[in-house]
Formats: sequence, structure tokens, C-alpha cells
Amino acid sequence: VTVETLRLHGFLARTQVEGPGLRACVWVQGCSIRCPGCFSPQTWDADGGESADAVQLGERIAADEAIEGVTFLGGEPFEQAAALALVGARARAAGRSVMVFTGYEYEHLRDAGRADWDALLATTDLLVDGPYDWRRPDRVRPWVGSTNQRFHCLTDRYADLWPLFAAAADRVEVHIRPDGRVWINGMCSTGSLRGLRRDVLGALER
Ligand code: SF4
Repeated sequence: VTVETLRLHGFLARTQVEGPGLRACVWVQGCSIRCPGCFSPQTWDADGGESADAVQLGERIAADEAIEGVTFLGGEPFEQAAALALVGARARAAGRSVMVFTGYEYEHLRDAGRADWDALLATTDLLVDGPYDWRRPDRVRPWVGSTNQRFHCLTDRYADLWPLFAAAADRVEVHIRPDGRVWINGMCSTGSLRGLRRDVLGALER
């Protein structure tokens, strides 16, 4: 296995649901993070999938002028960071954007001092980080699975989409009943709930 060899789970030449605009999508094979409730456990086995040449894949993505960019997801892209950095660099050289989903947290990747991780981060415009947490599903923001996952604009390419990424993932509703009882439903932290309760009761007393 060379740095140019990628263990691939799947490839879609064009999709509109794996990031901004029309994109190619690369699912890598192999993930050692193993989040409970992962939607794609079939990508966990590092020996599964098929071999692909990273340079050829990069050329294919670079050649498709109809697409805006490419998205890497998994499996775990940073477990094949060197090969994906080659794909990403070729795509970016042709003007395509690169979006990456990772189960690792950005600070961990950034501060590890690993050349392969640095190389993939250097070719990434938009990073979504953090393991999937089945207890905290995100039904607000696009593309992410759970509310702990964060968007990081590593370049300016998608900075204008920030309001979309920063949309409050925790949402609650406050119902004030005719009999004066207050009903709060939805999901938020205990601290936020306490603050909300205080504000609502304060407003009702005024
Ligand atoms: S990091 Fe992604 S592929 Fe890996 S177990 Fe978690 S959700 Fe599944």
C-alpha cells in the first residue's frame, strides 16, 4: 500500500445532499472510532471496500467542471489522510472545494503534529468534526448527524454560509396555557432551561 492508495467504500460522481452545491462524494473504508448508533457500520472494517488510486480519483474530480467540489466522509477520512490530501489538492487546484466529515475533533487533529493530518486540513475548506452522538440528534443544521458536531470554515470559501452552520441546534417551545400554566418542550441543556424558566416567570410577573 502506497500513499496514493485509498481504501474506498464508495464514490458518487454527483450528489446534492452531501454538502453545498453539486459535489462528488468519496466514502472511505475503515473507521476505528465506532460511535454507537453509527449509520454506516459497514464502513468500519479497514480491510473491506476496494482499492482506488488517489491521483486518478483527484483527476476525475478535477475534470468535472459541473461540480462545485468534493466531500470526503466515511469511514474516517483522517485514517487515510495522506491519500485524501492528494485527492483534495488536485481538486482544489482545479477550483473545486473540499468538505470533510471527521469523527475526531478539530483541535485534536490540528495539534497532533502529524504531517498527514496537516496535509488534509490544508486542503480542506469546510470541516465537520466530532463523533456521532445518537442521544443528541441534530434536526436543524444541514448535513450533520448530532448537535455536538461542529462546522469549521478553514478557508473563506463557505464563510458566507456561517448563519446556516451556526443555527441553534437546541430548540424549545414555550406554551403559556389559558389557565396560566407554562409548558416547555423540546431539547436544551439544563442550564439553558433554568435561564429560560427564570425569564418566562419574570416576564409573566411583570
Ligand atoms: S466516526 Fe463516522 S463512520 Fe466512524 S463510527 Fe462515528 S459516525 Fe460511524
